[in-house]
Parts: sequence; structure tokens; C-alpha cells
Amino acid sequence: MALLARSLRIVLAALLAIQPELVETARAQEAAAQAASLPVADEEAYKPVDKDERGLWMDTEEGERQLKASQQVIRDPALNAYVRKVLCNLVGPGKCASIRLYIVRTPDFNASMAVNGAMVVYSGLLLRTQNEAQLAAVLGHEYTHFAGHHGLRMFRQVKEKSAAAAWLAFTGIGLIASFSMAASLFSYSRDMEREADSGGLALMAAAGYDTREASKVWEQLRAEMDATAAVRNTKSRKDKNGGIFATHPPTAERVANLAQMATANPGVAGATGLDSYSAAMGHWWPVFFDDQLKRNDLGASDYLLAALAQQGWSPWLLYARGELYRRRALGNDIADAEKFYSQGIEAGGELPELWRGRGLARLKLERPEDGKTDLNEYLRRSPDAVDKAMIAMMAGETR
Ligand SMILES: [Zn+2]
Repeated sequence: MALLARSLRIVLAALLAIQPELVETARAQEAAAQAASLPVADEEAYKPVDKDERGLWMDTEEGERQLKASQQVIRDPALNAYVRKVLCNLVGPGKCASIRLYIVRTPDFNASMAVNGAMVVYSGLLLRTQNEAQLAAVLGHEYTHFAGHHGLRMFRQVKEKSAAAAWLAFTGIGLIASFSMAASLFSYSRDMEREADSGGLALMAAAGYDTREASKVWEQLRAEMDATAAVRNTKSRKDKNGGIFATHPPTAERVANLAQMATANPGVAGATGLDSYSAAMGHWWPVFFDDQLKRNDLGASDYLLAALAQQGWSPWLLYARGELYRRRALGNDIADAEKFYSQGIEAGGELPELWRGRGLARLKLERPEDGKTDLNEYLRRSPDAVDKAMIAMMAGETR
């Protein structure tokens, strides 16, 4: 039974703390990670109370050590400081100080908080929440799971009840192969989800945000799923579990409950923190959107772009629009893409990728000299670009 409990803990710790691909990345750096020690929690931080919880905690700390060394963690101090500031607004400086925050570069919508106080925020979430209040809604939700010890409660329930989980633990199949199965077994219960929604909204209100933004997060996810389905000509999965929203289905019931709670506890009307959010994310959105494009989900990408362009087409949004059309490459897409990159450049865009995109589009449009000029301009503006060898080859010897 001890072995079973430990195996379950490892699966759960992996689920709560890290993505499967992060395990792979991190393993390569295990030696370095072992040297790293975790920060000491302050006196306000929660301590594990019994054997189950201590074991779960230890395995989670091991997961955190691996995560800490991962290349996918974004270390930009400004971005980290901003997300932490939002978190501290919600939970107060004392509790906030003991939380370790990891912003992970991956295009999925997700955030989680492990039982030991390690919070993980995916870049795909930062691309989807449209203002500070919406980000606060998700962080408050995850914090409520943590503060209510939902991870431990879930672990105990599974340990007592689930024969499937026992089998999973004993077969010794790797965590990665069994991850999707584990995800369905280890989803929080509906009661815990309701508790997290209501606790998160209360934190938002107390911190002075407009709580109507909480239900919008999930409404937007539903609209995005519709957009994915419309382009793929399939049925929307918005009322199903699974996919990238597996652990947090954006159900109509969730949207309705949150909207109702916001009526009862409105917070500060109009306090969405849109400007501070845009200022903090502006530098990163092109990177996050580029990752999103690689998911090859045209409907969702188009939807996200339109949502972000609600306040006008900034140079980077024009860049992103250009990328979307250039990669789709149907009908007049390449010519339209070339136009969007040009508009971005004319609007004073500094992003070197505007020239890369336009150069590649112009090569496709059989304007080789213009294309090469743009690619050389890209290399001049971005001399350390990861793709410089390939682009230099395409730019030819015209320099
Ligand atoms: Zn949740």
C-alpha cells in the first residue's frame, strides 16, 4: 500500500506541478537541478500535517526542482514581477511572499498551483485573458484550490476509490504515456471547482477588480472552441471535457454561476486593469502568439487575434495577422499578408519579424529582390535571431 500511495503521489505531483514535456526537458538538467534548493517558506505558509500530505509534498518539491531548471520557464523579471503583483493584490503580501511563481512558455490555456505553494502560469493563459481582472480571476481560482487543500483531498479520494488508478500506478508505464489518463482521473471535483470559482471571485472583489470579468474568461474560451470547430467543420467541444481545457471545462453552468456571483459581489465596476495589462504583455504577445500559431488551429488563432485587436491594430497585431494569412496561404492570403506587414512597418512597428514576414511573403509573390532586401533588414535588426542561418541563405548574397 505504501508503494501504491507513493506512485499515486508521483502521478498527482506531476499533474499538479508540471507538463509532461517539461519532465523531458528537465531530466536533461537533473544534475543542475539537484544543486538548486527551494526557498524557505515564511511563517504564514502552510505546513503538511500527516503522512499522506508530507509524501505528496515531497514529490511535488521534486517536480518543482525539475520545473525550476526547465528551459520553458520565462525568466523575464518584468513579466514575473507583473504577474506576481496581480497575485499579491489578491492574496495579500504575507501569503504572496511564500508562493513561487513559474511562467511557462506553452500555448495552452492553463494555470495550476501545487500543494507546496508552487504556482504555474502558462503563456497561453496570458494570451487569452484580455485584461488584469481576467488574469486575477484565474489566479484567484487556483489560489482557492491551494488554500482549500483540494490537491490533497483529491489524492485521498483517488487512493480510496479508484481501481483504475491502482492499476495505473502498478503497471509502471511512464508518467508521460499515462498523462492523459491521469488527467481525467485527477480532475478536481465539481464541488471543488465551484468553491474555487466562488473563492476566486471573492478575492477579486476584495482586491478592487470588476468581477464581471471572471465569467468572461470562460465565455471567451467557449467562443474560441466554437471558432476552432467552425474552421475545422466539426462540432464545438465547448460542452465536453478534454482537449487543452481538460481540467477546467468552460461549461455554460460555470459561466452562469460566475455571472450571478458577480451581480451579488460586483467589486469595482469598470476596474479591469486593461492598460496595465497591455503594457505588461505588449512585449511578449508576439512571442506567445507565434507559439499559438504553431498549434495549427486557425479558427482559434483568428479568434484570439480579433479579440486582441479590439482596441485597434497595433504593429504587432498586424504582424500576427500577416503570419496567420501567410501560413494559411489560400487564395489571396499571401498578398494580404504582405499588406498587413507593410501596414505594421508604416505604423512604426519596431518588431524585426515584420521584415522577415514581409520578405518571405514577397519571395512567394515572386518579388525576389524586394524579398531579399526585407530579409537582410530583418537580419540587421535581429543579428542573434535563432533562424539567422536559414534566413541568410534565403536572403542570398545580395548584402
Ligand atoms: Zn479549478
